[in-house]
Amino acid sequence: MKRIAIICREDKASYRLKDIILRELKNDMIYDEEHPDLVISVGGDGTMLSCIHKYINQLDSVYFVGLHTGTLGFYTDYRKEEYMELIEGIKSDKGTVLERYLLKVHYGDKESLALNEVRIENNVHSLVLDVFIDEEHLETFRGNGLCVSTDSGSTAYNRSLGGAIIYPGVKLMQLSEIAGIHHNAYRSLDSSLILDDRHKICVHSLNFSNAILGIDNEVHELKDINQLEIEVSDKCARFIQFKPLSFIKRVKRAFIK
Ligand code: NAD
Repeated sequence: MKRIAIICREDKASYRLKDIILRELKNDMIYDEEHPDLVISVGGDGTMLSCIHKYINQLDSVYFVGLHTGTLGFYTDYRKEEYMELIEGIKSDKGTVLERYLLKVHYGDKESLALNEVRIENNVHSLVLDVFIDEEHLETFRGNGLCVSTDSGSTAYNRSLGGAIIYPGVKLMQLSEIAGIHHNAYRSLDSSLILDDRHKICVHSLNFSNAILGIDNEVHELKDINQLEIEVSDKCARFIQFKPLSFIKRVKRAFIK
């Protein structure tokens, strides 16, 4: 028998759906939040990000699927009224797997993984960041920060920064500026740069004070650190799809109409 876990957003509608799903699956599944085979996220894209980070050390053995309790998200295939379709999909056990590549960020003696993006940000004063691509100096950036996004995260923060939307399933990272300062004294690329998985981005600063390291929906301090290295990880989060869902339709629905 398969082991499932349901992680839900803390609101009434999500808790209600969790109860219904549990009831419907009780004869087919065992509930095991410690070591699940399948994690059902009930909430929004942020709930799915929390799920990924909760099970970040079990990515080789866990599959993820999402039910949205608001409007349709990018990590959720079902709307709240479609919960029976999801339950039938799970019971049928006939899904296709979509591997979503993660980013690996190394800072000090720590290493973390990101599904959407890694951000170095400072809203108090401008950051001065030296950016190296594979040890070759690209630029000295001045501004609020930098964002390095995955293909999956390209529709999130990256898009607000004017970065390109990437069709999912491509192993790459996209470097975008957050409010870069550009005038005759300071100049940086001022456009997004897309790199494949052979490359590494290294960001160096003499002073990261007041800066934060954003990893998806988490925030970390950058104390006593003057360098970060970011690259595409060989780890991925495995999403299971029980019904085909066109990415173009999702983009259209989210951003065009
Ligand atoms: P949140 O509550 O601030 O939500 C931000 C929005 O981003 C939500 O509408 C969420 O559905 C959406 N989102 C998250 N991942 C997405 C994806 N892959 N594609 C398209 N939309 C996506 O924060 P949260 O829900 O905890 O999510 C954290 C994420 O929010 C971060 O990883 C970041 O990408 C994004 N974010 C975006 C902005 C912005 O666009 N200006 C600002 C803050 C955070």
